[in-house]
Amino acid sequence: MNVLLIGSGGREHALAWKLSASPLLNKLYCAPGNGGIADVAHCVGISAADHAAVTRFCKDNEIGLVIVGPEAPLVAGLADDLTTAGIKCLGPARAAARLEASKGYTKDLAREYKIPTAAYERFSSADAAKAYISGHELPLVVKADGLAAGKGVIICQTRREAETAVDSCFSGAFGKAGAQILVEEFLDGEEASFFALVDGTSVLPLATAQDYKRVGDGDTGPNTGGMGAYSPAPVMTPAMIKRTMDEIITPTIAAMAARGEPYRGVLFAGLMITKQGPKLIEYNVRFGDPEAQVLMVRLKSDLLPALLATVDGTLDEIALEWRSEAALTVVLAADGYPGTPKTGTEIKGLDAAAATEGVEIFHAGTKREGNRILASGGRVLNVTTRGNTVREAQARAYAAIAKIDWPGGFCRSDIGWRALARETAGA
Ligand code: AMP
Repeated sequence: MNVLLIGSGGREHALAWKLSASPLLNKLYCAPGNGGIADVAHCVGISAADHAAVTRFCKDNEIGLVIVGPEAPLVAGLADDLTTAGIKCLGPARAAARLEASKGYTKDLAREYKIPTAAYERFSSADAAKAYISGHELPLVVKADGLAAGKGVIICQTRREAETAVDSCFSGAFGKAGAQILVEEFLDGEEASFFALVDGTSVLPLATAQDYKRVGDGDTGPNTGGMGAYSPAPVMTPAMIKRTMDEIITPTIAAMAARGEPYRGVLFAGLMITKQGPKLIEYNVRFGDPEAQVLMVRLKSDLLPALLATVDGTLDEIALEWRSEAALTVVLAADGYPGTPKTGTEIKGLDAAAATEGVEIFHAGTKREGNRILASGGRVLNVTTRGNTVREAQARAYAAIAKIDWPGGFCRSDIGWRALARETAGA
C-alpha cells in the first residue's frame, strides 16, 4: 500500500524509517519531510493545512493510509476531512483531538470520570484566578488552556509569580491559547510518558519513555520541545502500567466513546508518578518527539498493520513485540535554540557517526543542498541508540556524536542520568 506521512521532524523520520521496512509498504510519501526523511520516503511539498490539496494528493497517488505526526493538523480537522473523502487517516477527529487542544476539556473529563489528576479550576478572568490563588497552597501551576507548543505551563513558587503568570496569559503571551487558563495543584513525583494505540474501544499499550525538556545539563535553563529521551521508563513497572491502564487510560477511552467522541489514534499520556500512584498531567494525541525515536528502535514488529488496525477498529487482533533492550536518543540543536536558532550551518561526519554499531541518526531539522546537509531548524538531529542497559545506549550515543563535525550545534551531555542513577543504585 502507499502511505502518506505528515510532518517534518525527528518523530516523522523515525516513523518513516520504521514504516519503510514494512513488507506491506509500496510507496512512502512524506509531506513536507526533511533532509533525512528523503533517504527513506518521497518528500512532497504539500501543506498539511490545505486539506483539499492533501485529499487530492491521496486520490491521485492511491494512498491507503495517511499518518499524521504532529497535533496541529488533527486539531484543525484533517482526519475528519480525509475520512469524509473516504481516505483512511491515523489520528483522532477534531472533537477527540480536544484531549490535547484544550487542557480544560481533559481536566473536566478527568473530574467527571474520577481519573486521578491534579486538583484544578478553570478561569476566563484574571480576578477570579487571583482569588483562587490567594486561597490555595503553593506551589501552583498556571496553564494556558490551548496549544502553546509546550510553553504555556508556568510553575509558580510564590503568589506573586502566580499572579504574574495569570496576567501574562490574559495579556496574550500565548495568543488565543491563553484566553482561558487553568490553575492547578503542583504534583510531586517522577514524570513518565505512556503510549498506546486506541481504535475507539480497544487499547494496545505500546511502551513507556522519559524525556528531558530543559535545554541545559542537570535539567537547567529554559524548556524546549525535548532534548533527549529513553525507553523504557524504569518507574513504569508492570504494576504501575496496570494501574495507569485501569485508573487513567481505560476510563478515558470509555468516557470518550460514551460521549459520542470516540478516540482513534496514538494516545500519549504525560504522567506524574506520585506517592499515591499515577496521576494524569496531560494527554497528547500523537507520538512524542523525541519519544517516538526511542519507541521505533525498540519495536520489533511491523508498525504498519498496527496503525491500520487502529483505523479499522481491529486492534484486538494485534500483538506487538518489543526488544528488551533500552533505547536512548540525544537531540542535537542549533546554537541559539530554544531562542532563535542559527540555521544554514553545515553538518559533516554523519555517515561515520551512523556507522557506529546500534546507532540510527534521525533528522529533525535539516535540508539537503547537493551533497551537503545543512541545519534548517532548532532541533536538528536525533542520535538514537540501543543498548543492553541505558548506560550502554548512552555511551554509544555520545561516541557517535563525537564523530559528528558540526560547530554550529550543541547537545546535552547527560541524557539518561536519571536511569543511570537507578542502574548504579541497583548494581
Ligand atoms: P504539560 O504541557 O501540561 O505537559 O506541562 C509541561 C510540564 O510542566 C510537564 O511535563 C511537567 O513537568 C510540568 N507540569 C505540568 N503540570 C504540572 C503539575 N500539576 N504539577 C507538577 N508539574 C507539572
